[in-house]
Amino acid sequence: MALALSPSRIVIKLAQAGVKRTTSLFRSAGIGGRDYAGWTQRAEVCARCPLVVVKCGKSYCGRPFLSQIARDEPTEGCGCPIGPKAKDPNEHCPRDEHFSPRATDESGTCNCMWCQSQRTADRA
Ligand code: SF4
Ligand SMILES: [Zn+2]
Repeated sequence: MALALSPSRIVIKLAQAGVKRTTSLFRSAGIGGRDYAGWTQRAEVCARCPLVVVKCGKSYCGRPFLSQIARDEPTEGCGCPIGPKAKDPNEHCPRDEHFSPRATDESGTCNCMWCQSQRTADRA
């Protein structure tokens, strides 16, 4: 399902993508924080996700962002490359297990696929 975006919303989304990309480059250069310690577990969750798109040998959460700016993230993915997204401690998967938007409750518990998987692993 493609969503219509206003021109100003498109500019905001492009700016957000640029900030994410820059942050990811800094982090991979050892500047601006460390990779999320459980990023491989996140990547394993993504490997089982039907929203993954592989393009030019790289895995993305849905179609790459610039090929589809307007999107419903829980059902189409956010468009980020999975490696840098999984390594970013501030990132979350955009969906829950029902392909609804992820949400955080009053206690700060996130129901995204990554956080649910992390809690399951912590309990094991
Ligand atoms: S971040 Fe979530 S929606 Fe995106 S590919 Fe990974 S599991 Fe799927
Ligand atoms: Zn989460």
